[in-house]
Amino acid sequence: MSANGLIVDARHVSRVFAMRAGPVTAVRDVTLQIHGGDHIAVRGPSGCGKSTLLHMLGCVEPQTSGSLLFDGQDVSQLSDARRSLLRLKQIGFVFQRFFLLPMLTARENVELPMSEAGVPKPARQKRAVELLEYVGLAARADHRPSQLSGGEMQRVAIARALANGPRLLLADEPTGELDEATGAQIASLLDRVNQAGTALVIVTHDPALADRAGRVLMMRDGQIESERVR
Ligand code: ADP
Ligand code: MG
Repeated sequence: MSANGLIVDARHVSRVFAMRAGPVTAVRDVTLQIHGGDHIAVRGPSGCGKSTLLHMLGCVEPQTSGSLLFDGQDVSQLSDARRSLLRLKQIGFVFQRFFLLPMLTARENVELPMSEAGVPKPARQKRAVELLEYVGLAARADHRPSQLSGGEMQRVAIARALANGPRLLLADEPTGELDEATGAQIASLLDRVNQAGTALVIVTHDPALADRAGRVLMMRDGQIESERVR
C-alpha cells in the first residue's frame, strides 16, 4: 500500500444507540475516506457525534449500518482478535484526559502497547526512550504521570499512541485540558507526526488546532455538514 493509499473507507455509516426513551442516532449516514498522510480536523457542537464517529473510524465501536473498510478489509467481518490486532498495530488514540496508567512511569506507559504487540523487552525499552526523545521528554522517562504537567502527560500519551508505528492517529480534543501555549506545543507536535507520514484525525474545538489541518469537517446532528479543503 502506497503512502497516500486509502486507509479508511467509510460508506453511509450510522450509529444508533438503543435507549430506554427510544433510539438515539449519534452518527447519521456519514461517508468519509481517509488517505495516508491526511490531516483532518473534525469540529462541531457538543453532542453532534464527533467522538462516536472517531470510535467507529478507530474500529472501537461497530457501525449500526453502512460499511467500514480499513486497508480494504471489512472491519465488521474481522474476529475480535483480528480487530484488536488491527487497532494495536495500525491505529493510535489520544484523548483529552490523557489516560496514562498512574502506577507506571512515562517509559513504561509508552512500552505498554509494544508489550501487548509482543515486542521483546530490550527493543521496546529502546523504542520507548526514542519516542520520549521525539516528544521532548527524554528527561522525564522515569517520572509517573502525577509528576508531570498536563502538556507533558499529553506528550507521553502521543508517544504511547505512536509506539507500534500506526498509519492513523485519532485524537479526541487533545488540547481540551491544556492552556493555550501548551496546546500550541501539542499542535506542533501533531504537525510533526503528520509530516512524518501518519494520517491524523483530530476532533477539536480549538481553532488553532483545526486551522493546521488540510481538511476541516464540520459536523451537526450526526452528519458531516460541510468540508473545507485547504
Ligand atoms: P460529541 O463527541 O460530538 O460531543 P458524541 O459522539 O459523544 O458527541 O455523542 C453524540 C450523541 O450520541 C449524543 O446525543 C450522545 O448523548 C449520544 N451517545 C454517545 N455515546 C452514547 C452511548 N454510549 N450511549 C448512548 N448514547 C450515546
Ligand atoms: Mg466528544
